[in-house]
Amino acid sequence: MKPDTSTGHRGLELEEPLLFELDSRDHSGVDLPEPDLSNNRLGGLERTAPIGLPGLSEPEVVRHFVRLSQKNYSIDGNLYPLGSCTMKHNPRINEKIARMSGFADAHPLQPESTVQGALEVLDTLGHWLRTITGMPAVALSPSAGAHGELCGLMAIRAAHTAKGDPRARVLVPESAHGTNPATATLCGYKVDPVPGNDRGRIDLDAVKAKLGGDVAAIMLTNPNTLGLFEDEVLEVAEAIHSIGGYFYCDGANLNAIVGRVRPGDLGVDAMHINLHKTFSTPHGGGGPGSGPVAFSEPLAPFAPLPQVVKDGDKLRLIEEKTGEAANSIGRLRSFHGQMGMFTRALAFMMSHGADGLRQIAEDAVLSANYLLSQLQDDLSVPYPAPCMHEVLFDDKFLEGTGVTTLDFAKAMIDEGYHPMTVYFPLVVHGAMLTEPTESESKASLDNLIATLKFLADKAKAGDTEHFTEAPRLAPRRRVNEAAAARNPVLRWTPPSPVADAAG
Ligand SMILES: *Cc1c(COP(=O)(O)O)cnc(C)c1O
Repeated sequence: MKPDTSTGHRGLELEEPLLFELDSRDHSGVDLPEPDLSNNRLGGLERTAPIGLPGLSEPEVVRHFVRLSQKNYSIDGNLYPLGSCTMKHNPRINEKIARMSGFADAHPLQPESTVQGALEVLDTLGHWLRTITGMPAVALSPSAGAHGELCGLMAIRAAHTAKGDPRARVLVPESAHGTNPATATLCGYKVDPVPGNDRGRIDLDAVKAKLGGDVAAIMLTNPNTLGLFEDEVLEVAEAIHSIGGYFYCDGANLNAIVGRVRPGDLGVDAMHINLHKTFSTPHGGGGPGSGPVAFSEPLAPFAPLPQVVKDGDKLRLIEEKTGEAANSIGRLRSFHGQMGMFTRALAFMMSHGADGLRQIAEDAVLSANYLLSQLQDDLSVPYPAPCMHEVLFDDKFLEGTGVTTLDFAKAMIDEGYHPMTVYFPLVVHGAMLTEPTESESKASLDNLIATLKFLADKAKAGDTEHFTEAPRLAPRRRVNEAAAARNPVLRWTPPSPVADAAG
């Protein structure tokens, strides 16, 4: 629907063309000396024609990117209920600390003696993560959750190989995040899916039935992707250990249990922690992630490099696979990891303290259960209460309305909300996974509840068009996501002058 204005803008919501559509090729934003075209510096490979970069002035460029940034929905603008992602408020103190020049301007190749403070951040963060997980070793360098999974499974593979028994199979619940089977496959394992039971937990009998001498590990998410605590986790750990396998825990949902449960006490051998979820950071738009991995005693010798160790009152890095790190799987990436993320996460931990971190888990779980209690009669809930930090709805309440989960999500956009995570986990029909986090006030939760009730009523009342036409009020209507993925337009071709003249 084109707005009825001469400019294409709607009030202060400004329409924004592509940068290439804005430009005029004969303009330039800067004064440069005329190039010396006779200077044959590239041995005849010099450009003979303009390369077609947009010609824009600085204010034009600034406006373009500011307008685009204003179209971005963010946690700083409104509640962001994406399940699984833990979109929580990012305290500004983290940003201030991460920008301190001693951290932000340090170079990874500086001599150790000049970066003792930065190394202390790594060491202290490692200490907090070991304490929180109750596990003896931690590797900081993995760059995100999925990278942490890779790190953990590489260590598991190295541990089995060291015993002369590399093994072939990894058990993964059907409800797992897609990164779990992808990681196991990348490490050369065959993924053996394990079904869930009617309580939304992993089926313990199915786990036991699948065990065998060729099983290297199980990858279990706890709380799982349905927002439920795996209440037979101790039995799962015992079962996998009984055949000499390892217990990998996907720790992306640590926000629900931080300070309340130590994964090491549950028998976990390796677990990644998404610092950008539990310990906050502006993520989700391609912002930085960080996925440290905690290891149990048997896996600790295989942890990646580099590692920070105390040498008297100095800190030093182990960067070679020798001596105490002879069995390490080696490096996973350049340098030490996402330093800006380490300072943010440590600032978050230290400003909350141990009691504050525990309260985060409690409040996150309380928020999700508040949504559940207020909405269970309006939406439909596949598994009975209580939930952990995220609440899962399915599409039963939409049965016979002609409205799908996708339509419902798009209608939320018209109401000024980013939709929750939809159609994940795959094992629940029309899933709507909603994670309010601890950082929303009751008033904010009540607004979301009122909106979801309003939409549920509207769908049940037969106002189907309200949904199938949604979003009606956003700058763009519903895009064809399949076409965008199958026929991506990666190159902008300027319209030919003839077509231009024809309009
Ligand atoms: C977010 C998430 C991951 C992947 O983490 P990234 O940091 O995005 O790579 C894995 N598993 C679960 C359950 C998650 O929620």
